[in-house]
Amino acid sequence: MTKTVTDVVCPFCGTLCDDLEVVVSDDGKQLTEVYNACVIGTEKFLHSQAKDRVTRPRLRQEDGSWKEISYDDAAEYTAQMLAKAKKPLMYGWSSTNCEAQSVGHEIAEMVGACVDNTAAVCHGTTLIAVQDIGIPSCTLGEIKNRADRILFWGCNPAHAHPRHMSRYSIYPRGFFTGKGQKSRKMIVVDPRVTDTAKLADVHLQVEQGRDYELLNAIRVALNNEWLPDVVAGIPAQKIREVADICKSGRFGIIFFGMGVTQTLSKNHNIDEAIALTKHLNEFTKFSIMPMRGHYNVTGSGEVLAWQFGFPYSVDLSRGFARYNPGDTSTIDLLARGEVDAMFTLGSDPGAHFPISCVKQIAKLPSVCIDPHQTPTSGVSKLHVPVAFCGVEVGGNAYRMDNVPIDMRKVVDPPAGMLTDEEFLIKVRDRVKQLKGAA
Ligand code: SF4
Repeated sequence: MTKTVTDVVCPFCGTLCDDLEVVVSDDGKQLTEVYNACVIGTEKFLHSQAKDRVTRPRLRQEDGSWKEISYDDAAEYTAQMLAKAKKPLMYGWSSTNCEAQSVGHEIAEMVGACVDNTAAVCHGTTLIAVQDIGIPSCTLGEIKNRADRILFWGCNPAHAHPRHMSRYSIYPRGFFTGKGQKSRKMIVVDPRVTDTAKLADVHLQVEQGRDYELLNAIRVALNNEWLPDVVAGIPAQKIREVADICKSGRFGIIFFGMGVTQTLSKNHNIDEAIALTKHLNEFTKFSIMPMRGHYNVTGSGEVLAWQFGFPYSVDLSRGFARYNPGDTSTIDLLARGEVDAMFTLGSDPGAHFPISCVKQIAKLPSVCIDPHQTPTSGVSKLHVPVAFCGVEVGGNAYRMDNVPIDMRKVVDPPAGMLTDEEFLIKVRDRVKQLKGAA
């Protein structure tokens, strides 16, 4: 016999779709079907049922093999590693709930760690720009119901956020819009002809790394001022056409991704994109929103900011919070060989960081907390598998528009398996003893 759990939240990307239906066995131990999710979200749920799943912590032996240990021993190893280190790095946090993030930051404060999340390699530049000049934003619900001008700049939701267009931005029937793409104008700015670009009314195939100039040129076109014949590979006539489309809408939105946050000019691109949004508000209503990747990277920034005042790359090694991205951020700390222990939770730097940084992680005492076997767990000394957040344990996560959403537990984790938060509480309590604070 089975039962269907409704209104389930998908813990994969920053869209945090909250309309999933998941079929589970009556005893809540097995998950059999997932409805409404995209293929990536479905895989996340089904992966929890994998036959080869690691269900107990594993400590690497001298010959490279793994030895299974208890959660208590794993917590002891982790607490000792962090307490002994002069400057540990605690990285990740974007694929776990806010409750676990909060406990992890308590540990970071006690051991004087550098604590950083995946924004350091994606939308950290956005956060810097927001600190520079603020951000005129809105919710995804407002976009669904009101927006008739949609710009995707340096992002490819058709692949990275597969239900974004159908739930919020292009295809839904909004309260003040008609149904589908006909009621909206879709503009894509991308050097590549992506699957998202193929759907656009206008595709501006900007030259790689020249987003700043194009953003600036659209502002010039808004004022009907002089433009050179071609800017960033785009003819002036096309730029004026896009400016006119934006001006003539009732409500517009710029969604932007790593194609603009991590290319030449970085945070200055986002300064200019926000300035363009502000400028467009002289003609109509316009908003701007980052396309956040990991499902709770936004929450990680929120929780860090509540606790330490800064949203990422926080250095607590001097006993107070310092924030200087480019100096206190993870890649820089690893590249300079400045940290002496590596703790990873809720992300996979082994798969995404420069190889020199991954080699550095492999040299350090290291712990990886992750339900999956990943390239990071592969180079770490201790791998602690945990329950899947949003599948086997609930908790709070922040959607890309900063709306907090409570995730639901739909199935039990394997018997005896701890959640991120439960494991971190064990580590925190032991670190307190080791530091004489208990
Ligand atoms: S779009 Fe994102 S949140 Fe929605 S189902 Fe797909 S992976 Fe999950």
